[in-house]
Amino acid sequence: MNDSQRIKAILKNSQAVIFYWRAEDGWPVEYVSENVSLFGYQEQDFLSGRIPYSSIIHPDDIAQVFEEVTTYTQTKQDEFRQVYRVLDAQGKVRWIDDRTVIERDEAGHPAYYVGTIIDISDQRKAEQFSQLLGGLLNESSEEAYVFERDSLKFTYLNTAALNNIGFSLEEAKNLTPFDIKADLDFVDFKEKLANLDASNQKNEFVEFEAIMKRKDGSEYCADVKIQRVYIDGHAHFFAIVHDVSNRKYLEEQREKEHQFVQTVIDGVADSIMVIQPDYTVSMMNKAAKTMLDLAPIQNTDSPKCYEISHHRSKPCDGQAHPCPLHMVMQSKTTVSVIHNHGNSDKAHYVELTAKPLLNDRHEVYSIVESSHDITSLIETQELLIEQTAKMSHQAGHDSLTGLPNRRLFEDRLRQALLRSKRTIDCFAVGLIDVDKFKHINDTFGHFAGDEVLVEVANRLRNTLRTSDTVARLGGDEFTVIIESIHSVDGFKPIFEKLIAAFKDPIETPFFGSIPVSISVGGSVYPIDAQDESDLLKKADLALYEVKAKGRNGYQLFNDMQ
Ligand code: GH3
Ligand code: MG
Repeated sequence: MNDSQRIKAILKNSQAVIFYWRAEDGWPVEYVSENVSLFGYQEQDFLSGRIPYSSIIHPDDIAQVFEEVTTYTQTKQDEFRQVYRVLDAQGKVRWIDDRTVIERDEAGHPAYYVGTIIDISDQRKAEQFSQLLGGLLNESSEEAYVFERDSLKFTYLNTAALNNIGFSLEEAKNLTPFDIKADLDFVDFKEKLANLDASNQKNEFVEFEAIMKRKDGSEYCADVKIQRVYIDGHAHFFAIVHDVSNRKYLEEQREKEHQFVQTVIDGVADSIMVIQPDYTVSMMNKAAKTMLDLAPIQNTDSPKCYEISHHRSKPCDGQAHPCPLHMVMQSKTTVSVIHNHGNSDKAHYVELTAKPLLNDRHEVYSIVESSHDITSLIETQELLIEQTAKMSHQAGHDSLTGLPNRRLFEDRLRQALLRSKRTIDCFAVGLIDVDKFKHINDTFGHFAGDEVLVEVANRLRNTLRTSDTVARLGGDEFTVIIESIHSVDGFKPIFEKLIAAFKDPIETPFFGSIPVSISVGGSVYPIDAQDESDLLKKADLALYEVKAKGRNGYQLFNDMQ
């Protein structure tokens, strides 16, 4: 290979493209190296004169390139360097570094230009990118610090860092992290950096919280993250510092508020819990905490409400333990339920009131549940219900025989009247008086008389249907209401049955057999009378008739002459 071939081979493999231009308009190309193909062109494109060099210069840069060449030429500077854009054969923009040497003729006028052109597009892109990153870093609200590995002196601080610590960049360059960190432990910090430096991991970093000190001596809390970086081949540390004093302040405020609420709810005797929708208890008062010891809690950091208050491993359900949370989540309103925590021997009632806490989107994010022991209240309530029932029974019943008394009888009579008005059926009122009862009292005593009255009541009750009414009006006077009969004659067998019920004497445990008979006077609605008092009056007249005729029998008013 001769020299010329060798040079050609070198040029072919080089990244630098050589141009030899005539110093004429448009810079026609006299020679171009073969590797112009790096720009997609053929040597012939230029050598044939088809493409003058000026036509591949980017239209936006051409004026500047011409001006610079003219200036260099006029100032007799024979070597110069330009950076501008050209268009490759595909019309794509390429940044080039153009080193030009001027060849002059004997008169000193430029005759040729020899240019070496290198594509620096990638380099430009990287430069622009790093400029962009640098700009972003400088504008970032995070504080950025770069310090040298060995001397630990700062080499770079972004605007946020300079603004917060109050030093100028020049001042800061004489400082190390120890000058701006109030609580920095020398040994510990050096060890952290040494570990980072020793690591082969590319993105390794250390993170810690630190108290930063400003130029004016004031301090602030920050999260610090340090990474090792190489700048110009030298190891540095790059620290991002995030001022968290505001966050710390808010955390402290929140903690204070939390403490205040805790103190307030601790003063309440009932148990109070703040519960998350997943049943986790996030806050509870002293009263609720007393239940903690007994509870089978799986995760003590996040106990579940059912573990604490019911000592069970799954959420409440069923009639005895309805889940108020579940209801609150659905209704989004305050819900109260009653739980029975007792056993078969002793009831223990607890009223749970659950109130939802709603966010802006009207979703339940928490539930405040209070529980109040209402056992004595429920017991009192039950006692009251029992007593009221008893009293209302007493108000309408005769205490000796247990039969309805006059008041209830009058009410039943009214009801019977209303019922019969709606149907075509009749009903009869029978007034019953025990015959010669005074005599029984006189012979066997008042106590025996009472026993007789009780047995009279039983026999009357047992003779009639349960839907009929048997009442004691007072003394030895009873009354019956017999319903749903179609005619007056239909009552006769019933009255006969009443008389027959006393065929046998009454057996008493202490006084032996006591023969008893009754007299019955009856009136029928609507045949004999249309209202209660008239019915009673007519029945009384009929009874009077029976008594007058010798007792132990019945008389219907309708049959009286
Ligand atoms: P008559 O056949 O005419 O009905 O005669 P009698 O003796 O039954 O007379 P009357 O019905 O007027 O008498 C009722 C008696 O019942 C009068 C009263 O001393 C008695 N007496 C009233 N209340 C009670 C009571 O609660 N217990 C008892 N043992 N006697 C009572
Ligand atoms: Mg009597």
